[in-house]
Amino acid sequence: MTNFRTVFDIVDPKLVAEGAGVLVRRSIFPRASNDYDPFLLFDHFAFNSPEDEMRGFPMHPHRGIETVTYMLAGSVAHRDSLGNAGVIAVGDAQWMTSGSGILHEEMPQRDANGNIYGFQLWVNLPAAQKMSPPRYQEIKSNSIPVIEKDGATIRIVAGEVDGLRGPVTEIAAAPFYLDVKLAAGSRFVFPTPIGHAVLAYLFEGAGEFAGESAEALSMVVFKDDGEQIEVKSETGAQFMLIAGAPIKETIVPYGPFVMNTVEEIQQTLLELRDGTFIKP
Ligand code: MN
Repeated sequence: MTNFRTVFDIVDPKLVAEGAGVLVRRSIFPRASNDYDPFLLFDHFAFNSPEDEMRGFPMHPHRGIETVTYMLAGSVAHRDSLGNAGVIAVGDAQWMTSGSGILHEEMPQRDANGNIYGFQLWVNLPAAQKMSPPRYQEIKSNSIPVIEKDGATIRIVAGEVDGLRGPVTEIAAAPFYLDVKLAAGSRFVFPTPIGHAVLAYLFEGAGEFAGESAEALSMVVFKDDGEQIEVKSETGAQFMLIAGAPIKETIVPYGPFVMNTVEEIQQTLLELRDGTFIKP
């Protein structure tokens, strides 16, 4: 392997109000142009001010996508229309495959220091799986393997690093989802599959991604022009490394739904109105 990917873009996350008025930092969001295929959205929720009113994401539907929640501080209480309920605690991940649809509630809760800090990634599903039964993979912190490599401490939520596999399985996009913490003065080189989308959400510190300077908070979008990525950091950095196989289908995003045609969106809205959205 010799070719390094170069950087296509460095996105500055924008503050957006979601749910019941939660301010999230959004770096990518679903668009018909599907620029980050198979990835649709990345939200960073960080509200560390105890004076702020606690808000969350009350009951809302999803269809045709996967939502991936990963918490670094605080927790998210979750329950859905199918009777599933639980808490995504610090260090945990939840990989939720909505398939044909769920209605769920996601309510962030502060830790003892008043902090909430986490990410939600949306991953597209191929047409053949958009109406599949919903599925959860609830990943407890202690089941996420950690590997130390060249000054990097890597938590493997999904994907395989040096023979160590993350706990998330059977995802159409064949993703890598890694929490990578670089010590000061380190150089991180990581092989990424040719043809796959590769993103890095830098949330702590600063670094050089393929020679381009970036500092937290930034979403670094790599070009598909190499077989590996290189990140250097003088002072230390932490980022989520996100990679996956493009699905290469037309998408029609509409709020919490991402389908392939306008008719499928219309059908979804009709089913929500007539009470047939949730499949038996
Ligand atoms: Mn949701």
